[in-house]
Amino acid sequence: MTIKANNPALKSWVEVPANSDFPIQNLPFGIFTHNGNSARVGVAIGDKVLDLKALHSLGYLTRLQFTIEDFDCNILNKMMRHGKQGTRELRNRISELLSAENDELQKNGHHCEQVLYLQSEVEMLLPMHIGDYTDFYSSEQHAYNVGCLFRDPNNALLPNWKHIPVGYHGRSSSIVPSGVDFHRPKGQKKPPTVEVPVFGNCNLLDFELETAFFTYEGKPLGESISTEEADEYIFGMALLNDWSARDIQGWEYVPLGPFLGKNFASHISCWIVTLDALEPFRTAGPVQEPKVLPYLEYAGDKHVDINLEVIIKPEGGEETTVSQSNYKYMYWNMNQQLAHHSVNGCNIRTGDCMGSGTISGPKESEFGSMLELSWKGTKTIPMKDGTERKFINDNDTVIMRGFSEKDGVRIGFGEVKAKVLPAL
Ligand code: MN
Repeated sequence: MTIKANNPALKSWVEVPANSDFPIQNLPFGIFTHNGNSARVGVAIGDKVLDLKALHSLGYLTRLQFTIEDFDCNILNKMMRHGKQGTRELRNRISELLSAENDELQKNGHHCEQVLYLQSEVEMLLPMHIGDYTDFYSSEQHAYNVGCLFRDPNNALLPNWKHIPVGYHGRSSSIVPSGVDFHRPKGQKKPPTVEVPVFGNCNLLDFELETAFFTYEGKPLGESISTEEADEYIFGMALLNDWSARDIQGWEYVPLGPFLGKNFASHISCWIVTLDALEPFRTAGPVQEPKVLPYLEYAGDKHVDINLEVIIKPEGGEETTVSQSNYKYMYWNMNQQLAHHSVNGCNIRTGDCMGSGTISGPKESEFGSMLELSWKGTKTIPMKDGTERKFINDNDTVIMRGFSEKDGVRIGFGEVKAKVLPAL
């Protein structure tokens, strides 16, 4: 399958700065407001945003099945109702209109002014109505590290781990877009040094470096999506910071898993990079041994090579990179996760968010949480401003960035960033 918009030779007449996350081969979708106007669907190109509502009203998208309501909307869900084929045709059409070799739009200077704004002048919003949020636990190094920290290295992985993409149902109400600062959570915890539980501020606030994928409408209740069909049900991906209150989590999680240690805030990056745009960066996953059950078997390269990094920026200080990982380190891929999620007949809906789980690579510098980087608080991580961290301090800003790169094409996600304000 060749996707026209992915052609590495394409150039846009819209200027794209060197090393931009948003060349013409990317064209991610998001929701924005500009100048007090209503929220609408936009596409990133270079340091600009293309307004799809305006583009449609000027007649540039009329050959497609989309109506103006699909874009005159504060969520992407409506547009996503048109399914993989629909959004693929839309992205291909936008690519055509932005291509240097096509003058339909570029020759009409007054139209260009009405459809292109500077990203620095728009406000990005949460792009999706997320009905359900599921978080997996699919990086072997992460599961191994956590197993070593809380059990022992010989039994680090629980017996089900290599048979099931382990996950839990999270909470979608507290998923917020990049840039929304939040207060340190409070809760019940029982530090090992005390006999009875106490209430107080979370002292072990952590990030989790994750990606998320967002789904199209799935099948009716009772039916399943196979690993082979899964690509058709995945719209795109974003960066996810699944904030975790380790002290609250540690006391509450047995026997039903994470609860208040996880649902006080989860941040996603604002541009949804389509799975189509990521196709050129597919790569092989690890050999899965023991062999998985037939419903989890898959064919072809279904992992994706995405460079990821985590930065801590203390108040008034410089950025310090504390982790550099890669999405290719996942043991279970998205196709397996979606097949597993629906194998019992669970119905998937438009805009559901599926977190990867913390993505840790094999090297210490590739661990995707402070829990692992500080090895449960036994090591310190130096900051460029001379301070040290074991977990996240008040007024620290945590920033995650990600991009894929190959054959001179860089497909980026922008960033997901949030500052931790003192507890209320
Ligand atoms: Mn997580």
